[in-house]
Amino acid sequence: MKNTDTNTLHKKPRLVVLGAGESGVGAAVLGVKQGFDVFVSDGSAIRDIYKKGLQDWGIPYEESEHSIEKILAADLVIKSPGIPEKAPAVKALKEQGVPVIGEIEFAGRYTNAKTVCITGSNGKSTTTMLTYHIMKKAGLNVGLAGNIGKSFALQVATEEYDVYVLEVSSFMLDDMYNFRADIAVLLNITPDHLDRYDYNMENYVNSKFRITRNQHVDDVFIYCKDDPETVKALAGKEITATKYPFSLTEEVQYGAYVNEQKEIIITLPNQEKFIMSINDLALQGKHNVYNNMASGIVAKVWELRNESIRESMGDFVNIPHRLEHVTKISGIEFINDSKATNVNSVWYALESLPGKIVLIMGGVDKGNDYSMLRELVQSKVRGIVCLGKDNRNIHNAFEEDTEVIVNTQTMSEAVQIAYHIAQKGDTVLLSPACASFDLFKNYEDRGDQFKAAVREL
Ligand code: ADP
Repeated sequence: MKNTDTNTLHKKPRLVVLGAGESGVGAAVLGVKQGFDVFVSDGSAIRDIYKKGLQDWGIPYEESEHSIEKILAADLVIKSPGIPEKAPAVKALKEQGVPVIGEIEFAGRYTNAKTVCITGSNGKSTTTMLTYHIMKKAGLNVGLAGNIGKSFALQVATEEYDVYVLEVSSFMLDDMYNFRADIAVLLNITPDHLDRYDYNMENYVNSKFRITRNQHVDDVFIYCKDDPETVKALAGKEITATKYPFSLTEEVQYGAYVNEQKEIIITLPNQEKFIMSINDLALQGKHNVYNNMASGIVAKVWELRNESIRESMGDFVNIPHRLEHVTKISGIEFINDSKATNVNSVWYALESLPGKIVLIMGGVDKGNDYSMLRELVQSKVRGIVCLGKDNRNIHNAFEEDTEVIVNTQTMSEAVQIAYHIAQKGDTVLLSPACASFDLFKNYEDRGDQFKAAVREL
């Protein structure tokens, strides 16, 4: 810590939290409990529920401004993962040598609970929820945190769990230094958020691999053997943890794969083999076979009973906005995949749906390369309805691949036009490949507006 004098003078060390969202407020509460003098600063307006949280704990805060002198007085700073490294306040802090870390790193210092950390470009939330579901149903005292639900820090401050399943984004990983995951899961790496990584894929890949930092040989690293970026990066990295891969295309000695009978096989040293038909999985689609294999390996590492794992994989109900069935009208299926905020997740959506598709897409493009979608668009997409402020990239990418590309500005307009273009037996799919904040509050708002517009047809 920069200012060790404060300790010798018996003054509380000063903790500044940048950003008063879920993670920031959790970190502030944990800070108070750990004896810090806490101050919270948010450059935007703070949502009422978080303001109330701060007030309940008597934590001073400011909103819609960053008072630089108050921030620079910190001994330690926790920054929200949404604030980039290049933000002026963060730069100034780093120049002064004040440590700036993330909420997961901070909370990790104050718990002895084991951690299962799940990252990847796609499938994090699904796999985190599924893993949590399997562990909870097996009777473990398990918490769910990270990029999902209540913050890790708040739970460390106010609950007692033996193990946490944490969804960890690359932004969160960037602010983690000494954190050590007992089990790290890397689902896949495909281009996403490149705007935060200087449009350099290697930077993004390295960020994802931070999940393996500090792991010991008796820790576990679970990864996808079919993922080219992961495999390429692994060739040049020393991974200390014990590695368990999963694959749809290759049999593996230890880890998980799918055999010719379409069964998931999971083998770990000195354990009974796990076998389950992919037809019995609650979550269907190729991408979900991957997610199930990853969760299944975690469960086996925890030595959970095969029967219990099979039961949980068979009855799991996914959270909304991920290939969520909405309704069928005049033989046309409506599917809400609002959480598909990058190109790869749209690929899996197009791949897994039968018949012709009218695709509603667009929003804030994070440097997308749409070329991997072109073949599927040619063969399966009847028309594209763009829903975004600026749709030029989508037009440029697909103008030769589909006959209809229309621009819309509101969800109800998009849904009505999509309904008009679709024919009986088709699917209208909202799978945007983009972030939502040009026209919506967030992806949930976008998905909710989609469902409401469909119900009004
Ligand atoms: P994340 O939390 O990483 O954004 P989600 O589980 O919320 O992931 O899913 C986001 C989108 O990615 C959804 O459209 C979903 O259908 C798709 N998806 C889920 N798992 C995978 C996977 N393993 N590979 C590719 N796409 C996936």
